[in-house]
Amino acid sequence: MENGNSSGGDGDVGVTQPRWRFSRPSGGTQLAAAGSLSIRAVLGRLISSVDPSGTRPVVWLAHGDPTATACFQTAPEAEDAVVDGLRSRKHNGYSSTSGEPHARSAIADYLSRDLPYELSPDDIYLTSGCVQAVEILISALAQPGANILLPKPGFPLYEARTTFSHLEDRHFDLVPERGWEVDLESVKALADENTVAIVIINPGNPSGSVYSQDHLAQIAETARELGIMIIADEVYAHLAFGDRPFTPMGVFGKIAPVITLGSISKRWLVPGWRLGWIAMCDPDGILKEAKVDQSIQNYANISTDPATFVQGAVPQMIANTKQEYFNKILGLLRNSADLLFGKIKDIRGITCPHKPEGSMFVMVKLDFTCLDGFSDDVDFCCRLAKEESVLVMPGTALGMKNWGRITFAIDLPSLEDGLERMKSFCDRHAKVEA
Ligand SMILES: *Cc1c(COP(=O)(O)O)cnc(C)c1O
Repeated sequence: MENGNSSGGDGDVGVTQPRWRFSRPSGGTQLAAAGSLSIRAVLGRLISSVDPSGTRPVVWLAHGDPTATACFQTAPEAEDAVVDGLRSRKHNGYSSTSGEPHARSAIADYLSRDLPYELSPDDIYLTSGCVQAVEILISALAQPGANILLPKPGFPLYEARTTFSHLEDRHFDLVPERGWEVDLESVKALADENTVAIVIINPGNPSGSVYSQDHLAQIAETARELGIMIIADEVYAHLAFGDRPFTPMGVFGKIAPVITLGSISKRWLVPGWRLGWIAMCDPDGILKEAKVDQSIQNYANISTDPATFVQGAVPQMIANTKQEYFNKILGLLRNSADLLFGKIKDIRGITCPHKPEGSMFVMVKLDFTCLDGFSDDVDFCCRLAKEESVLVMPGTALGMKNWGRITFAIDLPSLEDGLERMKSFCDRHAKVEA
């Protein structure tokens, strides 16, 4: 009665209805909505668009997990390492919070091979895949009033995590005509004294780009000018199959502090094993001084750890996986990218401004001046799923309306089949010239 909230009616005589706090419109529901923007949610929508009475197999060009394809399987050395780790009975207990020392040390050595300075095991925090690395970092950096710079197009996990952590996100452009390089002027225009970091994804998801050393150095100089750290999402590290080799952002850690995020998911093709890392590429100790490592450690203390037998496998897995294995995977990706880039040119209404040179993805532009009757990219992708059983990720899910993202980590015959169906779909929906 005191708060005027008693129900009185409906038979519950005299029972005061509690005022449920969690149902406030500004509460958890809004935060949970961030998850509805995730790739998984959009993928669910595409899958439900597929005609169940269709007789042709579904062609999956929207996923980020190639392991369903027979040719994209992990190295036998990696499997042996996990079996040996499990059988050793040394990895059945709880993990230490930052990860097992041997595994941290192996990752530090592995990353140091490509850096002009040495990382120590203390610079490495093991995480449950790169997803948890993102979660930990965004949570550790969030503070009232702060903002973070994210790429557009990008990887929507970042937007979902910043929303959950009340960290404001601001988007800078990647320029398709310049190989999806960062528009550094837009970065400078966005940043202010409350900006904490800039996120760079290289090799690029969704762009398929691989940045040159020069461009990475320019990014580092810009970060230095702005006084912000760089978060380098290098989950596709070494998956560069074009002319340009992969260079880690950490190479420029003396210009601006870099926190590198990575995992074994993509290079070893084991996204289900859930092993990733945060690496502090900070040779001048700037992040330590600012106690960023302490915030990460604090968050890791209340978070879960990757499975210990996978951690236990890491040193052997890194030591034993042969270069031939990595070369084989790069060859497969190169052939797929070549096929895709060639075939896309023949599809009316779809253009590809930049040939992919890394990761497993490419962005294509939908031109609705030559296609008829589509309201936008989501409509296009849902109808493509319905009519052709081909799944392509709408660009809207990645921050680029009227674009689409195609995964080419799939066997060549399926990719070819998918592209042919896309071609007949676009032919069928082509605008008739007046
Ligand atoms: C796949 C992916 C991740 C997540 O990696 P996991 O190791 O599978 O958790 C993070 N960032 C980008 C850009 C990705 O594509």
